[in-house]
Amino acid sequence: MVGEQENKDIIIGGQKVAPGEDKLLKINIDRLPTGTLIDIPVYVYNAKKPGPILLVQGGLHGDEINGIEIVRKMMQEQLFNVDKGAVIAVPILNVFGFIHFSRDVPDGKDVNRSFPGSKSGSMASRIAYHYISEILSQIDLGIDLHTGGAQRHNYPQIRYTAEDNLSKELAAIFNAPFIFPSKLIKGSFRNAAHKIGKPTVVFEAGESMRFDDSSILEGMQGILNVLKHLGMIKSIEPKYTERTTSIVLTDRKWLRAPTAGMFIPEILNGSEIKKGQILGIITDAIALKTKNIKAPYDGFVIALNFQAVVNQGDALFHVGQRE
Ligand SMILES: [Zn+2]
Repeated sequence: MVGEQENKDIIIGGQKVAPGEDKLLKINIDRLPTGTLIDIPVYVYNAKKPGPILLVQGGLHGDEINGIEIVRKMMQEQLFNVDKGAVIAVPILNVFGFIHFSRDVPDGKDVNRSFPGSKSGSMASRIAYHYISEILSQIDLGIDLHTGGAQRHNYPQIRYTAEDNLSKELAAIFNAPFIFPSKLIKGSFRNAAHKIGKPTVVFEAGESMRFDDSSILEGMQGILNVLKHLGMIKSIEPKYTERTTSIVLTDRKWLRAPTAGMFIPEILNGSEIKKGQILGIITDAIALKTKNIKAPYDGFVIALNFQAVVNQGDALFHVGQRE
């Protein structure tokens, strides 16, 4: 065609997705001890017109199912059918963890601490290696979906790499309730992506093994904001446009249990707090001793531990200070 640029093929695991096609691919990474092959499902939406290639992935930690549901819902509602560029959607990166209700792969290793990985390494290391060579190498930018741990609920938040302006910009476009920079962790997906010049952000919302509707909605809204901003979609359905303004945080810290006991939070996750305010108490079971947990500064609660019985030193509240 004269004067019109064409998009290019996307090839993953030797399987081709031509411009104008959307296809479910399966990358074979490993097998279970029974001999059963395990495939990672990868859905590619390749538009006719050229544009950015965006990776949206869930389930890098197999038990963090809000991210898996965000990708699934977007696939079901055909929200990745873009006009320009391509979306590579990976609902469950760690299939092994997903079927074991676990963050890790069966050898006990965390894929998100195993990047860049190696071809002949442990299972986690091999998954990381294949993932970089097959997928990460061809994207322009990525969104990695996570949750808090067991009973530790993250209020929807987007984390970026401070050294990477594009990552910061991407976080601002995503526009989650809270935004802040987060250090690059050795072996993490975000670190590996940063090293090869691919800006990514990490969305954290809710807790592991539990669906949280508002977290799922916030994640979908954020991804749609990015697709719209990049010109990959023309508009966003009204039901996905409502959003509060992001609060930018600088300092963050975990407030830990000063003693073992029963933990009774007295504030909702996401709340604004004032220095000295009592956020919760730790008490013994015979009503003899009670200790208050106080806010160290004016700010916000961005994660809350819902565990009722805690040990000394357990993380209770993640609090952040506004920029
Ligand atoms: Zn995670």
